[in-house]
Amino acid sequence: MNARTLLRESFARLVLWTGVVAAVRKFLWRDRVAILLYHNPSPSTLDAHLSYLTRICDIVPLDALSQPGRGRPRAVITLDDGHAGNAALLPVFDKHRVRPTIFLCSGVIEHRAAHWWMHPAAAGTDIERLKRLPNRERLAQLHERGYQGAELRQVLPMLLGGGQLREPTIADEGRNGTAPTGLSVRQVKQMRARVDFQSHTRFHPILTRCEDAECEQEITGSRRDIERLTGRPCVHFAYPNGNYGEREIRLLRAAGYRTARTCDVGWNDDATDPFRLRAIDIHDDSSLAWFIAQLTGIPLFLRYARHGGGWRGRKPQF
Ligand SMILES: [Zn+2]
Repeated sequence: MNARTLLRESFARLVLWTGVVAAVRKFLWRDRVAILLYHNPSPSTLDAHLSYLTRICDIVPLDALSQPGRGRPRAVITLDDGHAGNAALLPVFDKHRVRPTIFLCSGVIEHRAAHWWMHPAAAGTDIERLKRLPNRERLAQLHERGYQGAELRQVLPMLLGGGQLREPTIADEGRNGTAPTGLSVRQVKQMRARVDFQSHTRFHPILTRCEDAECEQEITGSRRDIERLTGRPCVHFAYPNGNYGEREIRLLRAAGYRTARTCDVGWNDDATDPFRLRAIDIHDDSSLAWFIAQLTGIPLFLRYARHGGGWRGRKPQF
């Protein structure tokens, strides 16, 4: 067991031992909605988490968020990015009768691309530093390291000053020659009856580091893509990396979205701004004890506060 795991497990035991878990459930969670945020958990880990969760709360679909509670805590299961591994989770969702929401990067899916931070060009780079760069600068630096593909081609005309966005084609990505990291279009179509697919942009840029036109293209384009892919309305959005501001909310409203999930920690009820839905970010490899500790929101709250997010549970922004 490494030092970080040991620290987490010790903290988890402390939280369980002190009765904080029950107190949070009673006074903070109440009958409000905890939106849990996963990325790419293993089936066995998710199975253990859902077995526990179904005992202590009602698991509801994201669409039921605005409905009144029945006096019990509620949870929504969301997974970000549309990782290829999500397809193996279907039996777990079926077993627990959970309809999750998977927030897809539609461009990554449609072009059989790699999520940019998992692309070979990003290997060995400081991903957190790249996130903070203006979007074009991030793409330029990745391009220098061999990043090609649809995302770059979408922005390239703007990089060259033409201003006109060209729709990238699947052939663009074929030339890229990189293994895809997301679900395939076929898998999405197979899963759509049991999974709610919604938008996480096309290529997962940090929206607050994008020019207006890039931001608008990512928000409106992904909605159009996902409705075409699934044949169902796409009205929910999750901000990549949890970065958002007033401009992003304005563009989402204009594009016809109804809600947007942040990475800010907390629970949701009638009073929550639908474009600032709070979440509880769960580590994909969490032991059951660490999962239960994370459900209190305390580890995330402390991490955000330590990194400059303040004391209101806001994920630090840039
Ligand atoms: Zn993401």
